[in-house]
Amino acid sequence: DARIEGYDPELAQAIADEARRQEDHVELIASENYASPRVMEAQGSVLTNKYAEGYPGKRYYGGCEYVDVAEKLAIERLKQLFGAGSTEGMYANVQPHSGSQANQAVYLALLQPGDTILGMSLAHGGHLTHGAKVNVSGKLFNAVQYGVNDQGLIDYDEVERLALEHKPKMVVAGFSAYSQKIDWARFRAIADKVGAWLFVDMAHVAGLIAAGVYPNPLPHAHVVTSTTHKTLRGPRGGIIVAKDPSEELVKKLQSIVFPGIQGGPLMHVIAAKAVAFKEALEPAFTEYQQQVVKNAQAMARVVIERGYKIVSGGTENHLMLIDMIGKGVTGKAAEAALGRAHITVNKNAVPNDPQKPFVTSGLRIGTPAVTTRGYLEADCIELAHWICDVLDAPEDEGVIAAVREKVTAQCRKFPVYG
Ligand code: PLP
Repeated sequence: DARIEGYDPELAQAIADEARRQEDHVELIASENYASPRVMEAQGSVLTNKYAEGYPGKRYYGGCEYVDVAEKLAIERLKQLFGAGSTEGMYANVQPHSGSQANQAVYLALLQPGDTILGMSLAHGGHLTHGAKVNVSGKLFNAVQYGVNDQGLIDYDEVERLALEHKPKMVVAGFSAYSQKIDWARFRAIADKVGAWLFVDMAHVAGLIAAGVYPNPLPHAHVVTSTTHKTLRGPRGGIIVAKDPSEELVKKLQSIVFPGIQGGPLMHVIAAKAVAFKEALEPAFTEYQQQVVKNAQAMARVVIERGYKIVSGGTENHLMLIDMIGKGVTGKAAEAALGRAHITVNKNAVPNDPQKPFVTSGLRIGTPAVTTRGYLEADCIELAHWICDVLDAPEDEGVIAAVREKVTAQCRKFPVYG
């Protein structure tokens, strides 16, 4: 049997169950989205069969003429997306297999083991790859970490103080859980003061930046990475971009991705990136990203009205962190209770969190996925009230069942793939 269904019923069932879950549960994990059928078509294409070590026009394998077309399209479109209307002076590499691979490439291209980096701590909203002890970025390098102040905001004076004290070779800006805008120019000024590289990881907000609804780091950073599957709504993967990099920097970045840390590029994923970038260049993508932010702000207002604290007081992007310290419910318990109501979120540490990282006192909520489904503010307001109903009574199975019923009805109104 040529199809999975007839050949491997166990796996077919898992895929069918996951498809059902994605339709019937409301997805509020801030780093997730729904790729378009076109993106998935490219990912499931014959391009998966092709080895193409090297770069377009300079491959170590024959038969690359058509995958070259796909990669060149992806590169050109990526340059347009983040070049703010012009591809002049733009550099783009579409080969990193993931966001973590893209970040590793940047570190290994520009640093030596033992060098000092200054990044945002995981506990305060940074990513593992920004210097956490359990990640190679924290093992291979001397990672100094900054965080947020008592208002939940990045304290740039403190970042500068740490930079002057520790003299990092690289300052890392970007986040996985921060709901305000970032002053990229200020970060560059801090990096310049100590002669450090400024590396921005825009993974979470790349889609917002492409649409012009969040500040673009490209004019300020020496090098920028992203994932392609979060707000950017493409296939799982990574990218590296830069504006006006030196020839030497380009050489280092190109050669560290291949042959430095990767072998053959995933040409089917690169083709899917090309499709996603084309979609992101459409006017509808700008409207989508504007709606993502409006939806997040509508949800934040309800959460605050209902007596919960949002770290930093609100949101200027696609996500928010609900701080439940003193509310008698942990992040872990809240995630589980909401899960029973078919609302998918993730527990998240909040500043000064008294709970362990696997328990936490916070929840991270994001609107990219529901906005792709077509949710508008009114739908998000309803949803935010249901979330608060569950947080108010996380052990009341009656409340949870009632919310689950309403969530299911809402999901049916907005099919993901039809
Ligand atoms: N950088 C940031 C800011 C992220 O939030 C993430 C993913 O959560 C990554 C990098 C890593 O991306 P990947 O999971 O593709 O390795």
